[in-house]
Amino acid sequence: MSLTNEINVCLDCSTSLLRDWKGWPLRDPAPMIRFSDSKTCKVCGGNNLLSPKHFRWKNFHSEFSTGLPDYFTIESNIMVSSQPAWGKPYRHVKKCAHCKKYSFLSSHFKEVSRTSCGCERFRPNPKKDVLELAFLETVYESKIDDSKIQISLDEVCEPLNEYLTQHRFETFAFLTAFNPHSTQTTNEENRTDQGKLLKILRSIDCKIFEGEGKALSGEWPPEPSFLVLGISFNLASALGREFRQTAIVFGHKDGEADLIWTRPPVSSERA
Ligand SMILES: [Zn+2]
Ligand SMILES: [Zn+2]
Repeated sequence: MSLTNEINVCLDCSTSLLRDWKGWPLRDPAPMIRFSDSKTCKVCGGNNLLSPKHFRWKNFHSEFSTGLPDYFTIESNIMVSSQPAWGKPYRHVKKCAHCKKYSFLSSHFKEVSRTSCGCERFRPNPKKDVLELAFLETVYESKIDDSKIQISLDEVCEPLNEYLTQHRFETFAFLTAFNPHSTQTTNEENRTDQGKLLKILRSIDCKIFEGEGKALSGEWPPEPSFLVLGISFNLASALGREFRQTAIVFGHKDGEADLIWTRPPVSSERA
């Protein structure tokens, strides 16, 4: 596994922040704990690090409480227990390229909130944040030489990476013309636009496989898409804009699949 910018949490630097947090998911923001983009913590030099995806909100009931929890706590699934978990305080952590601080999305069922460094790209935007969670909870599926591959955001898809290496492609994009502005559109319009997109893709020097974006919740119908190898970042983003897509998935060989916003969300988008 060759994650290019995997982010971890330093448990030694974060224990007291995590221990002291009490509150309600999304109402009381999760603390800005010590994230690190290397295998060692740059502050304490320790290597007691854990992936943010292991942290959960847990409800806390005092001894005789049977109704609502007294409050929630944040724990990692290696610290505890088989209690039910309620959403993820550190669902999606990113380091800001501009200020080098961290920003993260917290999720609680389908709701999200963002704790941000304050820079433009990460400024909280409820509509965009909900959409981002929907994109994160989608698998981008395709078939290469009869074997199914599944791309998830922020992960390296090894079978895809092998294919890119073997066939000397540097980039990949996952593109669709379906459902402009992340709004469900008639099948007819979708098919027409998808035909136009395919025609453009066939006119450039790239390799095309059919694919499908599948929401893990199953609440959004699978979106027919194309996995396109060897397409430039600029062209892939331009096609995203041209076909009024809110975002596209793009990545480089040896790198993670990234969500690239191509236009700001508008009011009627999926939420
Ligand atoms: Zn540390
Ligand atoms: Zn920033």
